[in-house]
Amino acid sequence: MRVVRSAGRAGVLRGNAFVDATPLLSGIGDPTVELVGSWAQLGGRLDELPDEPLAGLEAPIVRPGKIIAAPANYGDHVREMEITVTVADLGLFLKAPTSITGPGGPVELPYTDRRTDQEAELALVVGRRARHVPPDRALDHVFGYTCLLDITVRGSEDRSTRKSFDTFTPIGPWIVTADEIPDPDRLTIRCWVNDVLRQDANTADLIFGVRELVAYASSVMTLEPGDLIATGTPAGVGPLAHGDLVAVEIEQVGRLEVTVTAAHAAPWENARPSPAID
Ligand code: MN
Repeated sequence: MRVVRSAGRAGVLRGNAFVDATPLLSGIGDPTVELVGSWAQLGGRLDELPDEPLAGLEAPIVRPGKIIAAPANYGDHVREMEITVTVADLGLFLKAPTSITGPGGPVELPYTDRRTDQEAELALVVGRRARHVPPDRALDHVFGYTCLLDITVRGSEDRSTRKSFDTFTPIGPWIVTADEIPDPDRLTIRCWVNDVLRQDANTADLIFGVRELVAYASSVMTLEPGDLIATGTPAGVGPLAHGDLVAVEIEQVGRLEVTVTAAHAAPWENARPSPAID
């Protein structure tokens, strides 16, 4: 099943129609987070709701509790970045939930004179609270999967700064429930910028696969329904420019497209804070 968000409402697709889950939800917090968290209790009640025309797709989750991400989790990307460490050395990092945007974007480039790259990634959505979950039980806590772009300014700042600008986490176009993807560690992932293929890989090459990432993250922090985990990007990252169209396609998951704009970009010198000097 595909969980979507349309006109600010969370629901599912039934064929080409939208089934609005709002009547089943409390209205408190992000409706998709609530839908994901109460999925098992809803049973067949979604089946009783009517079809509506689909108005267009938005980011399937707008305010997850957290976005956890894996750096350096494909060997070929580690080599292209000319670093010698991997996720096993670096651990995980967090992106601001306010960085989420949906299908279409746009991704807003913050600087006119800093390189900002696309990173195509498989993301998983946590379905059940998880703490200290072993890898062989990890998939029990995964609700589903979506396409994610981990947009990144290159430079020396902490990852959480360089990857947390507003619009730097496009997700969608929907969440495919986990029952449709029995093995998330065997999916083709491709990314095009203006129809030029930049990334072409398989999640089989993840250093920490989906099970290991859930287990590892849950050994650090409690995972809650609606939390996102971005699994990392393969080789082929590259700079984005005003007017670019970025497309991510993941086997069995879907295709996410966003545009890029520099309409609000400013020179780094203008944005950078001036440290106080004694
Ligand atoms: Mn990344």
